[in-house]
Amino acid sequence: MITKPIRTRFAPSPTGRMHIGNARSALYPFLLARRMGGKFILRIEDTDQKRYEPGAEQELIDGLHWLGLHYDEGPDIGGPHGPYRQSERRAIYHEHAWKLVELGKAFPCFCTPDRLEKVRQEQMKNKQNPRYDGTCRLLAPEEARRRVNAGEKYVIRFKMPKDGSITTTDLLRGSITTENSALDDSVLLKSDGLPTYHLAAMVDDHLMGITHVIRGSEWLPSMPLHIHVIRAFGWEEPIFAHLSVFLKPSGKGKMSKRDRAEAMKDGHSIFLGDMKELGYTPEGVLNWIALMGWGVAEDDVMTLDQMVKRFNIDNLTPSPAAINFQKLDHFNGTHIRLLPTEELAARIKPYFLADGLKVEDDTLLKITPLLRERLVTLDDCLAFGAFFFRESVQPNAEELVAKGLDAKQSAEVARRAYQILSALPDLSHARAEPPMRAYVEESGLSPNQVFGIVRVAVTGQKVSPPLFESMEIIGKEKVLERLEKAAQMLETM
Ligand code: GLU
Repeated sequence: MITKPIRTRFAPSPTGRMHIGNARSALYPFLLARRMGGKFILRIEDTDQKRYEPGAEQELIDGLHWLGLHYDEGPDIGGPHGPYRQSERRAIYHEHAWKLVELGKAFPCFCTPDRLEKVRQEQMKNKQNPRYDGTCRLLAPEEARRRVNAGEKYVIRFKMPKDGSITTTDLLRGSITTENSALDDSVLLKSDGLPTYHLAAMVDDHLMGITHVIRGSEWLPSMPLHIHVIRAFGWEEPIFAHLSVFLKPSGKGKMSKRDRAEAMKDGHSIFLGDMKELGYTPEGVLNWIALMGWGVAEDDVMTLDQMVKRFNIDNLTPSPAAINFQKLDHFNGTHIRLLPTEELAARIKPYFLADGLKVEDDTLLKITPLLRERLVTLDDCLAFGAFFFRESVQPNAEELVAKGLDAKQSAEVARRAYQILSALPDLSHARAEPPMRAYVEESGLSPNQVFGIVRVAVTGQKVSPPLFESMEIIGKEKVLERLEKAAQMLETM
């Protein structure tokens, strides 16, 4: 039972592009903190210098802001428990590692990588689990100190008790008891003076007052070590929740961000930067991710605010979650339809601009409600609506010919539509539709034939928003120009 103010954190390593696994590891602690009136913290775990990627931290920060997962403390905004970048906390880890040595819970180890490798080979040969063989555990503390002071290279290892067992509790899975004899004297401080995750994360979670550690299930096997470290310091244990793994879209095996073929499939991607470019909305992405590991109904549509109201950490589930991009499309389209017109207009505008179109804002506001129903991703606005902003359209001659008619008959339809529409003072929907319907009646043609020809002529495409609404927005002059051009194309076929 936690009585302190709730504090949660997202603690990514800046080792690559931000993906949906990161996003989910940020979302749940964010929701818990907001639900409980607590604080949500961003901590950058950059102590693995071999895997460090410049630019990755900024991508994480941008991704969080894009999703709306704003944090209360973090490397770029500071806070009372900073610094929030582990590479800037070296001295803190150093001090804590040595504190454990003083407490008799850890020891400096001078074994060379060569020696450790030989031990490992030997153990493998004897079918033993590879682990540290304990050589430096036996050194007298004064002797160890002397060698450290003399400048010898060392690491600090946790002195794992040889006997007994440890019981750890994961909120989603319950308690697990592990024999200490199965655990290793793991390295806490590396020879480059930087901590391993096992030390750094435990120290930081404690110093930053973290009450709930929500992290990926790849850390579950290290949990006994982590609880040992926390208890060795005599600290209170936070609540741990390890999130379910993602399964590949094929359902076969665990998803890995390194598996590019699976990560980028049929115009989909698990990387946030790509998703944004592909026209996914933060609302759609969040809703999709939220349900992969949170036991609410599979098709629940929720905004971030609604998630905050409903979130209950006890409902997180350990069952693997299959990545289903069709569901993402579904949620994205659904959230697009929920956006107010002005907001949606502002979101699709950049796609038109990027396509080189000149966007008049009042036209944009008028077409947005027409496009809304048709968009799965925001960039679909181009396929359905670019013609509104073009001076002219280039219909495909074949497509202008209506089913069951030849080119000449289709040309007559275009000419007749021209006559009817040109006689009107303007092409408001209410004015244009009745005479065009009357023409369909008297001509004996089907609405599909007549409106199909007019649609392709005026929009340049076979699928478009509703025809009369579209013609009203395009305006009489351009509609007539386009009908004239179509008629000519048909006549010369
Ligand atoms: N830096 C670790 C990772 O990215 C952090 C895990 C955590 O404690 O949240 O996997």
